Amino acid sequence: MPRTFLFDVDGTLVFYPGIGRRALERAIFEEWGTPDALARTSFAGATDHGLVAGVAEGRPPGDVWERYVRYLEADMEALPDATPLPGVNALLDRLAASGARLGLLTGNLRVGARAKLGRPGLWARFDPSISAFGDDGMQRVQIAEAARARCGAGPLTVIGDASADAVAARHIGARVLLVNTGPQERHELEQCAADRLVEDFSATDDVCDWLLSRP
Ligand SMILES: [Mg+2]
Repeated sequence: MPRTFLFDVDGTLVFYPGIGRRALERAIFEEWGTPDALARTSFAGATDHGLVAGVAEGRPPGDVWERYVRYLEADMEALPDATPLPGVNALLDRLAASGARLGLLTGNLRVGARAKLGRPGLWARFDPSISAFGDDGMQRVQIAEAARARCGAGPLTVIGDASADAVAARHIGARVLLVNTGPQERHELEQCAADRLVEDFSATDDVCDWLLSRP
């Protein structure tokens, strides 16, 4: 059974501060008239459906998702620079060369993940058939369950930047590597009892050796 690695998107592979928030707030404002609907909401480890449910108060989503994806794609197009976080490309190169399976475990809708990862050239590096997205549930643990079902019973490692990634990983019996390149504070990540916590992936060989040296 090949090793399987499931990556979170925002704060783990890429970090575009404010991009998703702006697109979603604009979509919500146009649909329901609520200004700055997510101004006080933490996006660390959040899911798209969870974020909107907190504002919807039971109302059906209407065109929120269509609008969101349209604005997100436009904002991504307009970004002057859309590069992966440090070490990400080298890490994916080495893991792929080892024969490992690479997937995504993210709270982003699949179309949103594609918009965020397409421009820096990362989308095609992951196998959608073992990935799970915001479409799979409102809670990250539900999304993780969908990922586990697609990946099978073999060894699984979840790589993320938030406490919620660690909780979701434990929920499906996966090992967890946290990386401190997202919005959460390091002292919060230290309380997650992750199998390993790194500042970023720039020490690529060290991170890779650790990922590949254990079941
Ligand atoms: Mg994240």
